[in-house]
Amino acid sequence: MRPDEASALRDEPNCSHNAGPKSGCAKPQPGATQGGCAFDGARNALLPIADVAHIVHGPIGCAGTSWDGRGSRSSGATLYRVGMTTDLSDMDVIMGRGEKRLFHAIRQAIDTYRPAAVFVYATCVPALHGDDYVAVAKAAQARWGVPVVPVDCAGFLGNKNFGNRIAGDAMLRHVIGTREPEPVPPGAIRPGITAHDVNLIGEWNIGGEFWSVAPLFDELGLRILCSFTGDARFREVQTMHRAEANMVVCSKAMIRVARTLRDRFGTPFFEGGFYGVAATSAALRGFATVLGDPVLAQRTEALIAREEAAVQEAIQPLRPKLEGKRVLIFAGGHKSWSLVSAMQHLGMNVVATGTEKSTEEDKARIRELMGPAGLMIQDNDQTALLRSFHEHRADILIAGDRYIYPALKARVPFLDVDHVRSVGYAGYAGAIELANNLAVTLHSPVWHHARTAPRWARQAA
Ligand code: SF4
Repeated sequence: MRPDEASALRDEPNCSHNAGPKSGCAKPQPGATQGGCAFDGARNALLPIADVAHIVHGPIGCAGTSWDGRGSRSSGATLYRVGMTTDLSDMDVIMGRGEKRLFHAIRQAIDTYRPAAVFVYATCVPALHGDDYVAVAKAAQARWGVPVVPVDCAGFLGNKNFGNRIAGDAMLRHVIGTREPEPVPPGAIRPGITAHDVNLIGEWNIGGEFWSVAPLFDELGLRILCSFTGDARFREVQTMHRAEANMVVCSKAMIRVARTLRDRFGTPFFEGGFYGVAATSAALRGFATVLGDPVLAQRTEALIAREEAAVQEAIQPLRPKLEGKRVLIFAGGHKSWSLVSAMQHLGMNVVATGTEKSTEEDKARIRELMGPAGLMIQDNDQTALLRSFHEHRADILIAGDRYIYPALKARVPFLDVDHVRSVGYAGYAGAIELANNLAVTLHSPVWHHARTAPRWARQAA
């Protein structure tokens, strides 16, 4: 990637961090890739596209460090679960064999797996060495007739979020707009209903979350052309330009894709989430509003009324176990506010929420929900977070997986809401699952035993 291309990619006008006198993300500083480099972010963002061969062009360590960073699930193809790398060694670099190894790796992937496409992730070593992986991708595509997409994501270009942006940019350059969607099959939509094509951008299908919300869209006559990228297929990504509306689910990561689709194809977009009843209902209403279809709006309200009533009924028996419990949330982006709303819906008291990766819009929503005095924690220091937990007399910590072990060592109840979990919390069904898991975690007898001195220590005393 040329320096001017990287600078252009850092400058995203629709990102709230771009506001004011500051233009664009800061260039990476030494140590800035701690917590994930650009390659890690790009591969994480695209790996859920399940029928693609994902080849990491670089030393095997790169492929290993970012492997399996997300619990994205697929309803069919499993090729994305096969780790592939050119496994560059020092001798490959010295002898200049990188491009050759990449060409053969692409051939092997195509011969062995017949993928819908091949994605090539260029890491630091071939980028510094000067491998022309774009030319190799072009030559391989011409030779075997399978789309080969170069993802120019050397780790030193920036952090994980920037890698997400690079991934979106690669799709915009090479994939989106290269195919037309299939027509809606006759009889698939009920008579009298106008079908609309939409995309979900930044929905990763963690623990099958997408499958909790997809039936709601089917019922409303909203065809999801692509859930980008959870449970996606290559052909679906190709057709994303034909959507009538886009919803950005994970705003910081993929806002550029939605903004570019709006600028190029006039597709309106809005931001939202599926964590909690209120957020899910707002997301469905968002589509009806953006599409400007009054009949859809009516059907949406009817569906929301039915689903909200079902959730109320399901969580009613859990309320005595949850009401009044104090929660500390440390989750990034849209989860920083949508989980606040979800907890409040369960009658729980959110004492603080983390805003490490939140946009200004996310923070405004938190203030709306928690009031102007609502405590936001910016610092991701684990010790400080646990200190806050005790200072605010919280009953449970809800955070990402990197806090699992500090929380368990501190013997405090913990619920994982990170990308590696295997349980889905999205949509109305997810809200019920979340309430169940909160009740089980809070009232597990393990906390009493973990906090009590062991029998032999009691006897000695
Ligand atoms: S791409 Fe670069 S920064 Fe990222 S894991 Fe590989 S060597 Fe490390």
